[in-house]
Amino acid sequence: MKPFSVFSLQHAEDLSQVASFKHSRFLAGGTNLVDLMKHQIERPDHIIDLSGFDEANQITEDDGRVVIGAMVTNTALADYAYKHPRLSLLAQALLAGATVQLRNRASTAGNLLQRTRCYYFYDTSKACNKREPGSGCAAKEGFNRIHAILGTSEHCIATHPSDMATAMVALDARVHICNAAGVRRELPVRELYTLPGDTPHVETQLADDDLITAVSIDTVPRGTHIYQKVRDRSSYAFALVSVACTLRVNEGVIDEVSLALGGVAPRPWHAHQAEACLLGNPPSPELFAQAAEAELKDARSYGGNDYKVPVLRRTLTHVLNQASDHQRAHPSHEGAMYAR
Ligand SMILES: Cc1cc2nc3c(=O)[nH]c(=O)nc-3n(C[C@H](O)[C@H](O)[C@H](O)COP(=O)(O)OP(=O)(O)OC[C@H]3O[C@@H](n4cnc5c(N)ncnc54)[C@H](O)[C@@H]3O)c2cc1C
Repeated sequence: MKPFSVFSLQHAEDLSQVASFKHSRFLAGGTNLVDLMKHQIERPDHIIDLSGFDEANQITEDDGRVVIGAMVTNTALADYAYKHPRLSLLAQALLAGATVQLRNRASTAGNLLQRTRCYYFYDTSKACNKREPGSGCAAKEGFNRIHAILGTSEHCIATHPSDMATAMVALDARVHICNAAGVRRELPVRELYTLPGDTPHVETQLADDDLITAVSIDTVPRGTHIYQKVRDRSSYAFALVSVACTLRVNEGVIDEVSLALGGVAPRPWHAHQAEACLLGNPPSPELFAQAAEAELKDARSYGGNDYKVPVLRRTLTHVLNQASDHQRAHPSHEGAMYAR
């Protein structure tokens, strides 16, 4: 392994003491970064260790706004969300991810910024524009059953693997950021990730010295919350396709809906075209099929992942039907529910 220096960060303000952010990486739970370092895919000169960043280890709630510290573990957040009357979507997504052992270690910020699971990104003997800009994309002509069907480019067809981030997109969460100059800002998770275009190695809007300090959810959407994940095994498996949905029916029409898709795009995919099709209309299987078609009209598959187009269509319509049935059975219900 390549030698690296370690700076132990206790407070966000300590960022000003970091000697260099060039070739540096923040280390949270390490469940992704350390693996990548072992494989020589990430080769940082400097590690900024966040294990002492205690102020980012709590969840606070103020006037309906939930603020989740960047270092809160996936287990602690799932536990909190599970008991919260209206954060069911987040609990469902977190509990569908990885395993208990990994969730005990994985942090909120690390989960958002985990890298793709594309086989060719991990295999340093193969071309990958994300790992080695300009080297090509072996996945396009290769074994690509886990790859993306939306938002791809000729340079990269990798997916973003996070379940939690997909729920965060549906919940319109915001990331709180602090940089080395002490400037703090917020960014909607929906705007955090960039599409690959011709720079697939650039994955987010963050600069090298941007530390995520927290993630907040301002207004939890009302209605029924469902996270449905399609995967090869019921544990230890990333989403092939997932759907995060909140839906409310009021006086016979859908008056609130939020949809995000996982496992199908280089970023957690905000399905705004499907939302636009649904909003203001009476729920029906025909409407749900139209909404799925609206989102899928630009889908492009690459052979091994052709199956994802019909699987996504069926999963999305199934989830919308389930949510609408649940709303019909519980018309006055405002909080999130496990609908499965
Ligand atoms: C076998 C296995 C199965 C898995 N299955 C799933 C699954 O089904 N679903 C799923 O969603 N995930 C899954 N995961 C991924 C797991 O959820 C992530 O590895 C984990 O969430 C990453 O969090 P971490 O704290 O360990 O991040 P780290 O590995 O420490 O960091 C990840 C990235 O985030 C950056 N980072 C961390 N904290 C900050 C911060 N505060 N500010 C700025 N940058 C930061 C790091 O620099 C690094 O680039 C799986 C992982 C494994 C190994």
